[in-house]
Amino acid sequence: MALVTISGYPSSGKSRRAEQIRASLQKYLSDETYPGPIRKVAVLSDDVLNLSRSSYDDSRSEKPARGALFAAMQRQMSPDTILIVDALNYIKGFRYQMYCAAREAKLRVCTIYIVATQEQCREWNMTRQDGRAYAPETLENLMFRYEEPSSMVRWDSPLFTVLWDEEVPPMPQIWDAISKGTVKPPTRPL
Ligand code: ADP
Repeated sequence: MALVTISGYPSSGKSRRAEQIRASLQKYLSDETYPGPIRKVAVLSDDVLNLSRSSYDDSRSEKPARGALFAAMQRQMSPDTILIVDALNYIKGFRYQMYCAAREAKLRVCTIYIVATQEQCREWNMTRQDGRAYAPETLENLMFRYEEPSSMVRWDSPLFTVLWDEEVPPMPQIWDAISKGTVKPPTRPL
């Protein structure tokens, strides 16, 4: 029913936000007044696919990793599912491809931009305890190449921006975009 694309710098808190969003959407779905047709929320990520962070160390290993993510995404798209793709999704052209695949499958879409400063990402990357840190050089390289989502292009719209110090993502608006497909996101200065 819907594709939720998460995008942001490496170690910016994407997985943490994806989990917040997943849990919150699950609550909306569990509400007995919600009539359907969506029945479940699924999260797809490099970790779910067992893709190592070192895949991003060079473009030769990154390409097949991205291909695997895209193929898994296409397999899991379904009219009764909200699919959250928790990955860097940092290339404009890749987000465009995801958008086209979602539209072809008649899914609603929204993009969630997780924002943290480069300094903050470096610190979180260095101190993460989950064995999923990026190599420092890879982190810098990915931040340098990062292509910011824009609400001006249709494949990133509607776009919701979540800043590092915000308690929770704007869930009512995200839920409306997914369940009704009508709501415009709030505009917020960066
Ligand atoms: P990503 O999915 O972007 O790589 P994660 O969500 O896995 O990022 O977070 C990377 C690291 O940063 C983790 O160790 C996480 O605990 C920490 N982190 C992320 N967001 C915050 C935050 N808002 N406050 C404190 N620590 C955070």
